[in-house]
Amino acid sequence: MYHISDLKKFLRCERLYFYSKDLASVFRPYLRSDENIIELVKKFLHIDECYEGVRNDPADRFFSQIDQYEWFVYPRFMDGEMRVNVPFMHKKGETFDLYFIYYGTLIRELDLLSYRITAQVLENSGVKVSDIYLLSFNGDYINEGQLDAEKLFACNDSFKNKKIKDLVCSEQFDYKGLISRMESFDIEGQPAKKCHFCKLNGLCEYYDRCFPQEEAEADDSILTLVLSQNKNKMYKEGILYLKDADPSQLEGNKVQYAQIMASRNGGLFIDRYPLIQWLNRIEKRPISFIDFEWDRYLVPIYERMRPMDVVCFEFALYYIDENGKMEHRTFLGTGDCRREFVEALFEYLPQEGPILAYNAWGAECLRLTELGEMFPEYKERLEAINARFYDLAEPFLEGLIYDVRMQGNFTLKKLVDICSDYSYKDLDIYDGMEAVFSWRDIGKNDTQDEERIMENLREYCSLDAYGLFLVYKWLIKLMIESK
Ligand code: SF4
Repeated sequence: MYHISDLKKFLRCERLYFYSKDLASVFRPYLRSDENIIELVKKFLHIDECYEGVRNDPADRFFSQIDQYEWFVYPRFMDGEMRVNVPFMHKKGETFDLYFIYYGTLIRELDLLSYRITAQVLENSGVKVSDIYLLSFNGDYINEGQLDAEKLFACNDSFKNKKIKDLVCSEQFDYKGLISRMESFDIEGQPAKKCHFCKLNGLCEYYDRCFPQEEAEADDSILTLVLSQNKNKMYKEGILYLKDADPSQLEGNKVQYAQIMASRNGGLFIDRYPLIQWLNRIEKRPISFIDFEWDRYLVPIYERMRPMDVVCFEFALYYIDENGKMEHRTFLGTGDCRREFVEALFEYLPQEGPILAYNAWGAECLRLTELGEMFPEYKERLEAINARFYDLAEPFLEGLIYDVRMQGNFTLKKLVDICSDYSYKDLDIYDGMEAVFSWRDIGKNDTQDEERIMENLREYCSLDAYGLFLVYKWLIKLMIESK
């Protein structure tokens, strides 16, 4: 039996599907949703009574109850080995309207493959489809104190001025052919080929199995070249190192230049004068180093939130005061702690001086702007804090410095690894999503476990903030040494 998600995984990468098919993975969504979306959609569509699909429903259950209901929620259908569920179906005489759910506010792209396979399985089962709707979350909706399901969704029957049904039914997808390819796929007979997904969100977990020879690649391998269309081509042509990159195959951006120069200079490139200028801008004390953690909510369960808004639940702060003494503060809240977060920030953050964060504009500064919109009474003070931020990622992303040990990786974690003995590998929580998942678990455990989770969260966020200090100190040291 195959689900649409299996087919998609195989289309994405055949090996990825093969390696992961026997693993019972627990799906942990990026978007938090504590509310029952099905119940909210029922309210939105004014459904009082309906057929409800349950786990392991036989495929003929829908047909045995087809005359009893007008609305059907998650009925299951099968065509051969292909199994699909439809979120919502509405009977209209002899035909049915289908409703799919888009878990976001702005529909950028239709999941045509899923809708198409679903519609085809239904047609092949003898169910006629009259129209197709897509329910998305209404980005303009603001929770005014109580969640209003009637305003939470938007119902769309078209996308980019075309009817969704026409887009779905304009082509057929040969899912039976694909399933037979999946069943006969022989991993031994297929050498691994690099694809877009190998390094999409960090390294694919099967990368070492697919490309074992790469473990031995040098730090300045041509394969570490960033934003490059041609690095794999150059590698195949025998250009193994950044220093030998073929200029006619480069995009020519500042970071590539820094990478190539670092490889030629024995491992490090510094564009000294602009880097001194950048560092001089943040000399004044106190200097603060701060990191935020937040969770993104699909359903705006708290007052003044819109769908997909975030709740900032933690920050860690280090600052060096006028006397050169370092201080450390943390805030970690639970539930709707947005107001406490802001007030702790006002209390702990020095009243003046530069504030450093990593990817500050797209993270910490954006979060403060959003908090100012949710709580207008804090807006002015939050804007004043925002104006003091400096983004520590900037020197690296602007090509002012590159160390080949970065191996094309521009994360704070990588820089901390390079410039210090500290390591995230020693922590129980080692990345941002793990921190979010741990925070979501608070309130579900006994007291001892809760304390351990809180302690782990503080340690992780504090290392991010301290890591900023370590990287900043490293930049200063490199500048002094390069005189
Ligand atoms: S490393 Fe690349 S080729 Fe290998 S399974 Fe992952 S995505 Fe597929």
